[in-house]
Amino acid sequence: MSGKNVTEVLPADADGIARAARILESGGLVAVPTETVYGLAARADSAEAVAKIYAAKGRPDFNPLIVHVRDLEQALSLAEFDERALDLAERFWPGPLTLVLPLRADARVTKAVTAGLPTIALRQPSHRVMRDVLSHTGFALAAPSANRSEEISPTCAEHVTASLGNDCPLVLDGGSSTKGLESTIVSLREGGRWSLLRPGPVTLETLNRLLGADAHVDQDAIEAPGQLERHYSPGKPLRLSAKVAEDGEFLIGFGAIAGDCNLSPSGDLNEAAARLYECLHLGANSDMPRIAVAPVPYGEVGMAINDRLRRAASQPD
Ligand code: AMP
Ligand code: MG
Repeated sequence: MSGKNVTEVLPADADGIARAARILESGGLVAVPTETVYGLAARADSAEAVAKIYAAKGRPDFNPLIVHVRDLEQALSLAEFDERALDLAERFWPGPLTLVLPLRADARVTKAVTAGLPTIALRQPSHRVMRDVLSHTGFALAAPSANRSEEISPTCAEHVTASLGNDCPLVLDGGSSTKGLESTIVSLREGGRWSLLRPGPVTLETLNRLLGADAHVDQDAIEAPGQLERHYSPGKPLRLSAKVAEDGEFLIGFGAIAGDCNLSPSGDLNEAAARLYECLHLGANSDMPRIAVAPVPYGEVGMAINDRLRRAASQPD
């Protein structure tokens, strides 16, 4: 290896975890696998460390970060939990649900994490490696997806190095992410109201059942920072609901529409979610100048898949 800025990719074994913990401790960045996508982690209590996330990603500073916690106790030190929040945490943590809750006045997080908002987004991840890293550190970790802002999210170590290059000193390699889509984000509001800020693996159907469909308020009606329209971009035009490939198109299939790669030959939406970014990366890296994607049903996690595809297809203004 030459130069001091070369990215290291290490297996996520005991040595790798210990090294990651040391880098995080000293305010550095580490890319860590989670069950959703790979996260670019920094200690949430350090302004300098968190600034490195925004710089490495080229992320606008009005877009707040999700804070990853070791356990409920750590979460309780950062946010005010009401009964609904406790119930959701009990049901879905560790797992792919992020709760946006009132920030505690004494929370040990730097202002940039919440972009100065009076709320904080929290999640306890279930991936063994992220949990090990969190249990080796005394602080919570801010960790957005480990890719340049607007690009396709990473679901394996190679995606991270391809997108961030040497801006991330260490990547822990934990294989492919099993869920493959970013967490569902729910904001719990006063008066029993709530809103879905981002669809994800925990579905709207499930949340409606638990929180009440009537109390669900449209996210557009309220301020939801950072839900940028253009996101997950493969860097070339993307056509949705395609039954066949036109000239020059790399076709991402689903079910019976075979395609150049297939989200799920059996039409399984969970498998499609897990393979979505892998297929978008394949399309982005192919020789074809354009990408097309077969129709994917909207039910259950299909809502989140279609949300990401719509944003991936959105062209710059
Ligand atoms: P990422 O870290 O890239 O997975 O994205 C995190 C998303 O969480 C951002 O795009 C925000 O929209 C959302 N978010 C984080 N914190 C808050 C908050 N305090 N209030 C509302 N949305 C938030
Ligand atoms: Mg992201």
